[in-house]
Amino acid sequence: MKKHNFSAGPSILPRVAIENAAKAILDFDGIGLSLLEISHRSADFEAVNNEAEALFRELLQVPDNYKILFLGGGASTQFFQVPYNLLEKKAGYVNTGVWANKAIKEARLFGETDVVASSEDKNFNYIPKNYTIPTDLDYLHITTNNTIYGTEYKTDIDSPVTLVADMSSDILSRPVDVSKYGLIYGGAQKNIGPAGVTFVIVREDILGKVSRKLPSMVDYRNHIANQSMFNTPPVFAIYVVRETLRWLKSIGGVPAIQKLNEEKAALLYEEIDRNPLFEGTAVKEDRSLMNICFVMTEKYADLAPQFLEFAKSKGMVGIKGHRLVGGFRASTYNALPKESVQALVDCMREFEKMHV
Ligand code: PMP
Repeated sequence: MKKHNFSAGPSILPRVAIENAAKAILDFDGIGLSLLEISHRSADFEAVNNEAEALFRELLQVPDNYKILFLGGGASTQFFQVPYNLLEKKAGYVNTGVWANKAIKEARLFGETDVVASSEDKNFNYIPKNYTIPTDLDYLHITTNNTIYGTEYKTDIDSPVTLVADMSSDILSRPVDVSKYGLIYGGAQKNIGPAGVTFVIVREDILGKVSRKLPSMVDYRNHIANQSMFNTPPVFAIYVVRETLRWLKSIGGVPAIQKLNEEKAALLYEEIDRNPLFEGTAVKEDRSLMNICFVMTEKYADLAPQFLEFAKSKGMVGIKGHRLVGGFRASTYNALPKESVQALVDCMREFEKMHV
């Protein structure tokens, strides 16, 4: 049976990227060696690394005064690497849920950390707006898509201080004005590759301003000076990133994927709003196009386990909601085809006919 992969991450990747990775594991570009056993300093891999970076730059229109890094450690390492490099006096954070909270906790180890806005009062079901960003902050940190709660910033905000963004779960799903940010980071394992590689896009002039000593691996400048090869980079994961970005370019880049993502999300949200069995959990204006969270309406709440079983029998994978929100979460990342969303909608309609 065909599986429809709605996993929150690691998550679905373009089939062509997986096939090419499988081939490269057996024989990388016909050189008689596996991708898994070549030197990261070989000319063959350097070409992969350079192309992955160039594609990322082209697809997201990253200006020349920004560097793109592929590092290890996951987005969670960025939670402390960012304040290590940038927090001298005071940082500001917008608290939009679990991941933002983890970033706040790490920043507090390095200096004064203010929560300038929060949506905690409503279980993080919205993106805070209309707050004033203090001008004495070293930086303001936001999480552009909240993977667990299904909320997302729809536009790039204006900030009077350096803006830092965790874009783990919506990178390259829509255009971003990179020039509004000082630093953007995220784990690759949702929209751009497999687990194991973390991207950092950083404007160089914000670095080197803190007075503390930085361990070499923490200092972004060392990674910049060595084109992400200060230590052994995650070779396999970077290869799959390149393949995924090649695929994204081939289908028309960010404008094309944004249109597709909007269509997929509209299809599912329309069904959630129409079907008497279901309701969305995030406020409408902040609904994520990447993680679509919904629950059973109160009247039918008892049917939730049955719906999960039914959906599973129809090939749906990964739609159980995070325990903090409950219900269901369908992650509709770039590589998820529209047919999979249609299959989920069909499944919800069939379940409605059985129970309403
Ligand atoms: N930020 C966000 C928004 C996430 O969704 C996640 C992972 N789901 C993380 C950070 C943590 O990423 P990692 O597991 O790569 O450390």
